Formats: sequence, C-alpha cells, structure tokens
Amino acid sequence: GPALLFVKTSQGKEEGRRFYACSACRDRKDCNFFQWEDEKVSETRLAAREEYNRIHQPSFTHRQNVDRYKNFVLLPLSKRRFCQECQQLLLPAEWEKHLDHQFLCDITTAQLKSPSQLLYPLENKKTNAQYLFADRSCQFLLNLLIDLGFRRVLSVGTPRLHEMIQSKASQEEEFSVRSLLLDIDFRYSQFYTEDEFCHYNMFNHHFFGGEAARETCRKFLYEENGERVIMVTDPPFGGLVEALASSFKKLMAMWKETENEGHDNKEMPMFWIFPYFFESRILDFFPSFSMMDYQVDYDNHALYKHGKTGRRQSPVRIFTNLTPSMIVLPEEEGYRFCTVCQRFVSSGNQHCEICNSCTSKDGRRWKHCILCKKCVKPSWFHCDNCNCCTLQKHSCEKTDVGCFVCGEAGHKRSACPSLSHT
Ligand code: SAH
Ligand code: ZN
Ligand code: ZN
Ligand code: ZN
Ligand code: ZN
Repeated sequence: GPALLFVKTSQGKEEGRRFYACSACRDRKDCNFFQWEDEKVSETRLAAREEYNRIHQPSFTHRQNVDRYKNFVLLPLSKRRFCQECQQLLLPAEWEKHLDHQFLCDITTAQLKSPSQLLYPLENKKTNAQYLFADRSCQFLLNLLIDLGFRRVLSVGTPRLHEMIQSKASQEEEFSVRSLLLDIDFRYSQFYTEDEFCHYNMFNHHFFGGEAARETCRKFLYEENGERVIMVTDPPFGGLVEALASSFKKLMAMWKETENEGHDNKEMPMFWIFPYFFESRILDFFPSFSMMDYQVDYDNHALYKHGKTGRRQSPVRIFTNLTPSMIVLPEEEGYRFCTVCQRFVSSGNQHCEICNSCTSKDGRRWKHCILCKKCVKPSWFHCDNCNCCTLQKHSCEKTDVGCFVCGEAGHKRSACPSLSHT
C-alpha cells in the first residue's frame, strides 16, 4: 500500500528534505523503498519496482487459499501436512516440492482451529512484532467483551483473540460472538475465508483485497439486530502512533457511516492495547480514551509475563473510550475498585490524596513530590539542580531529548529496552 511521508528531525527542528518510506517496515533491511518527496522517478525505475512487487506476491491468492483449505479438510489425517519452512498447508500433489523441508504430519482439526499455534510468530521486531496473548489475558479480554454486551469484534492485529472467538463459535452452540480479523500476516488467509480475514495494513489503512475487502469490513461494522461492535487492536509497539491513530480514525469513520441510528455523537467502542508509556501520545489523538491498569500478558515475550510468576511485570495496558467504571478487572489478581477514581486499579496503585487520583502507571506504588506537584516513580528523587524528579544517577542540565518510545534519556528509540525481548 501507500508509503508514508517522513521528515528527518533533530532536536525538534525540521531539517532536510521530506521522503517517502514503507509504512509497514520500520527497518530498511525489511523494505528498502525510499523516495524523496520531490524526486522524479524514471520509467525504468518504476518498471523495476513493479517487477519487484510482482515477484514478491504470495504464491496463492486468498481465494485460492480458501479453496485449498476446503480440499485440505477432506483429506484423511495421514495426508494432512504443514510445511514449516514455507508456513503452508500442503496438498498431496505438492509434497514432492517440499521433501527436503521440515514439515508437520497429521494436522488435526484442532490445530487448524488454532493457526497462531501452528504458525511460528513473526518476531522480527521492526515489522511484524508478533507477540501472542497468554491464554489468561485472551480469555479475560473475551469475557470482558461479552460481559459488556458486544457481539462483534473487529480484531485488528489480534489473531489469537480472533481465533479464540472463531473456535468457540464453531464448538459452542449458544456462543454468538463473531470476529473479523484484519492483519498484515497473509499466512492467516490459509485458515479463514474472505468474510473472516482481510489482509490489511494498519499503518496506512490499506486493504490488499481492494474494494471487496473494504466492503466486507463495512458490512461487518453495520450493527444488525442490535449486535454491538467493538474494535480490539494490539499493534507492534515500535509503530508510529500518528499513523496508527490515523488508520483507526478511518475505521471509526467507517463504523459511523454505516447508516445506523444513534451513532450521531458516538465513537466506535475500542480497546487499543499498548504500553503505558505511550499514554500521552494516545491521548493526544484520542482525548476520549483512558488507560486501564490491567496488565496484558504474552506467551512468547519473556519480559511481558505476569508479575506473579516471578517475571517482570508487563507494561502493556488497555486504552479505551468506554466508561472506565465498566471495565471490571479480576479481583483474584489483586485489582480493586477505587470509588473516588471510579475505576479498577492494580493492588499497588495507591490513591494519592493530593493528586486526588490513583497515580501509578506501572503498578508499583508511586510517591508524591510536593515540589513537582505530582506523583513520581518510587525510584525517583527530586533534584534541586534540574528542578524536577528524576533518577538519582543522572547528569544535571543534560537536555538530552529522551527516547521516543519510553521518554527516558540515554538511548534512542531503536535501542529502547522496553521493546526488547530475550
Ligand atoms: N497479541 C495479539 C498479537 C499482537 S502482535 C494476539 O495474540 O492476537 C501484532 C500483530 O499485528 C501481529 O498479528 C502482526 O501480524 C500484526 N501487524 C504487524 N504489522 C501490521 C500492519 N502494518 N498492519 C496490520 N497488522 C500488522
Ligand atoms: Zn516447504
Ligand atoms: Zn483512586
Ligand atoms: Zn500525588
Ligand atoms: Zn520532584
């Protein structure tokens, strides 16, 4: 889809020329598309680009993959193979081509219903950053949505939530929730029809399936028989908040345009799952959102696992435009309701009488600084030189622009420890 227009800045000042680069890949190694804003591109280069795109198309279209799946499920267990190298379900006629590849045999129906377990997570940090929900968190999200009365979930970059909904819907008669997955990971087209999955780029709101896919999404957002829709998204954390926000606003507009009564002054309900240190960035774009204390945990992220298991606590939270008091967090995990703030907070989050709010962002107990007139991290101290609270070990007056991701000084976005995993 369309590239994004970037500008190189240094110390907040714009400088140099503006340029276009790939919206989805934040690493030039993954996609080296680059074009100055005012650059004239020769016919030869255009042709070369088109040729490049042509040979980098997936080997099957979504339609072909849906047909292949139909044939695949008709096969006896002994003939159901999945090539791990090509990340592809194989039909018997194709076995030969994959003989020297690693493959899995006897793919069960249960495995086909949990593609996120079958496919390996695309962990390359700067493009897919596929971090899958721990079962506990996924179950919590789904129960929460159901308790809130939602019957349709637009799953944007949340394949595991989508899969949980789909597999419950096929197994439990009375389960009436539906989900549409929008994701850039085309491997999912092998497991879902065009009504269940759209190949989508959330950094530029591009539907790879064109107008038909757009229409699928539009139809899904149309709330028939009072089935209310919520959008749930869990984008890569290294992603540009402004690009994401712009796409999400377009999805919200799509919902609004479905000619449903009562949308006049409302926003499409949304859960945006993102680290707490992006709070101010998200609120810049969505002032109606608030951050919940719930810590979202991941399976394949060593750092972001549940606190109780002795691992570090997850910095990932739910941002929502729903009324905070409606978001009930599990008491058995230590969350409690603060009657003053009218929301559930984590066990360590103490209500500060001076701020008149539960001020902790990271789950630890924060302390109030009289001079700064706000609560700060427990590890911070007030520095009279800098006239603000900061880490005890810091060099005064260093007006270093902090990291764009976590705001801390001393490293750049690319080296941010908050994004790293082991
Ligand atoms: N926790 C979620 C997965 C989040 S990981 C779950 O368990 O369901 C981020 C997801 O966003 C991945 O599925 C990844 O494929 C998808 N993604 C990454 N870049 C994207 C883009 N540009 N457009 C759409 N989806 C993208
Ligand atoms: Zn193969
Ligand atoms: Zn409170
Ligand atoms: Zn305070
Ligand atoms: Zn202070």
